[in-house]
Amino acid sequence: MKHQPRVLIVEDEPAIAELVAVNLRHNGFQPTWAEDGEAAQRELDAVLPDVILLDWMLPGQSGVTLARKWRADARTRAVPILMLTARGDEPDKVAGLDAGADDYITKPFSTQEMLARIRAVLRRRAPEQVTDSVAIGDLQLDGATYRVTFKGQLLKIGPTEFKLLHYFMKHAERVHSRSQLLDKVWGDHVFIEERTVDVHVKRLREALGAAGVMIETVRGAGYRLTAQPLATAAA
Ligand code: CA
Repeated sequence: MKHQPRVLIVEDEPAIAELVAVNLRHNGFQPTWAEDGEAAQRELDAVLPDVILLDWMLPGQSGVTLARKWRADARTRAVPILMLTARGDEPDKVAGLDAGADDYITKPFSTQEMLARIRAVLRRRAPEQVTDSVAIGDLQLDGATYRVTFKGQLLKIGPTEFKLLHYFMKHAERVHSRSQLLDKVWGDHVFIEERTVDVHVKRLREALGAAGVMIETVRGAGYRLTAQPLATAAA
């Protein structure tokens, strides 16, 4: 039987949760529902889902707080998080992405949009797509063990940043536009804004620490990874 991806829905409004769950079930997913952060944590402790649909506005701990917490936890770090937000404004979306969400969906959303976004994060996550190893200077990425090190030091890195870094390292020194990166790294960017790339590049730089300067912004063109950054790590 085909693997049915598990989706943990964290949503306090039963009507929305039920509608989402029904649609997911009809489309080959296994949804479970948690109405708040505590219930969600119990679910996560029991079985890891393939993706988390996380409402922004929840009683108790907010979606952003939960996203931050699950990203910091080794057990849940690699599980993609899709943030559900009722608000459309940009600062909230960026705050959600900053907290560790992989993407966001603005309510109200169609079933088709939700499914497309879930499939996109699942495709993106698939670490089995990256199985080779690549090294640029002191920066090393091992696809088989899903590890990134700089000068031998292990770095904490999220799933999207891992794929992004792999692409940058495989095509070092070349400049990539935001839309090229969406194409190559995200694969399905119908619903993803170019701004999302900037957020993930920012997170990647933070994750790389001293090696973050290797990711250069090329004004008006995009980004590149270089072995000889213009800025120095000391700056
Ligand atoms: Ca809510």
